[in-house]
Amino acid sequence: MSPDYEAVIGLEVHARMHTRTKAFCPCAVRFGDPPNSLVCPTCLGLPGALPSLNREAVAMGVRVGLALGCTVRRRSRFARKNYFYPDLPKGYQISQYDEPLCEGGWLDVPQPDGSTRRIGIERAHLEEDAGKNLHGVGASREVSLVDLNRAGVPLLEIVGRPELRSASEAAEYLRQLRSVLMAVGANDGNLESGSFRCDANVSVRPVGERRLGTRTEIKNINSFRFVQRAIEWEVAEQVAALRAGASVAQVTKTWDDDSGRCHVLRRKEGSDDYRYFPEPDLPPLVLSEAFVDELAASLPPLPAARRARYVRELGLTEGDARPLPVEALAALFARLDDGTLSGTIAREVYAKMVESGRSADEIIEAEGLRVVTDEGAIDAACRAVIDASPKQLAAYRAGKRALLGYFKGEVMRATGGRADPRALDAALSRLLGG
Ligand SMILES: [Zn+2]
Repeated sequence: MSPDYEAVIGLEVHARMHTRTKAFCPCAVRFGDPPNSLVCPTCLGLPGALPSLNREAVAMGVRVGLALGCTVRRRSRFARKNYFYPDLPKGYQISQYDEPLCEGGWLDVPQPDGSTRRIGIERAHLEEDAGKNLHGVGASREVSLVDLNRAGVPLLEIVGRPELRSASEAAEYLRQLRSVLMAVGANDGNLESGSFRCDANVSVRPVGERRLGTRTEIKNINSFRFVQRAIEWEVAEQVAALRAGASVAQVTKTWDDDSGRCHVLRRKEGSDDYRYFPEPDLPPLVLSEAFVDELAASLPPLPAARRARYVRELGLTEGDARPLPVEALAALFARLDDGTLSGTIAREVYAKMVESGRSADEIIEAEGLRVVTDEGAIDAACRAVIDASPKQLAAYRAGKRALLGYFKGEVMRATGGRADPRALDAALSRLLGG
């Protein structure tokens, strides 16, 4: 990247919702079946067939929205996006336009220095996929056919704000987004099969300039590596054009990995070109509080929530919880959960992780920083404390039971906070003759 220009990148991800059936009809969602075997009058767009919304697709969209910190609209609306293409038999795609399911949100994207940068999510809306054109079929290779098995499969389009600043950051954003979608069970994460595809909007501007430059859109990129290569190429191309005094044309491009360059597909469409209007065959989508609450309660711990737990349980600040990648902290917490570490030792291990960059397990192994559960070792530590405290022992045996806390504290101090609290209680009550 040239030092006098900066890239401005926004990604639109089309994620297939991992449902059993299509968005607006009961046809199965499967891949690899014979062409046009998973179709019905609705997804074929036959006259008179009416769509009926798949509740499972809505639930998955809501889960993703919640996981991304979005506001889930209690009332959203479907719209028709009109365009002609052979894989779209109705002549329009059912999508959402001015009242999307989810709005506002964010994704924390890990940076090479271990920090994270928060990238805004503008919206996430439900829509249906188109079919698939198969070109160059038949003996003469001059025939194109259409397979509509994919037509009507539910997608969530997740529109990120144009806040990414490099090709590698864009690729990292996609990795994070994919892991969130998979964590909530909304997407199978399979890029090769097209379950997770992305369009990249790319522009460049002189450093310090606030206005956005003219952007190009690179369509349908389906690998993290291609995203990075395509954006790198496009940024270099735009910077070269501006340097040469030329302008950037607002066009739609496609990445060709064989030639290692983007090719222009067509002039970029604006939303006017699609003549959006409200879908007359579907009522507004109204979600009850109970429906959203239930989905919120069923979400698994997500990267952001896990970070909140680190802050709470290790007494870290929000800033502390970011030096380290979430995965490293998760490994530390796994040792807290399985009883290898106590809270006190976990804080010590954490400090060493930050200092050395080593993993929790490496530190635990190398420095023997783990809860001591060995009965013999705990007994020995207890005996030493009891032997050194004859006055307290006599008072305890005379009925001053509150002194139990004194003995516990002394043993913990002697073991560097490593004695397993339950094993310690058992040993003390045995040795003190409680
Ligand atoms: Zn169907």
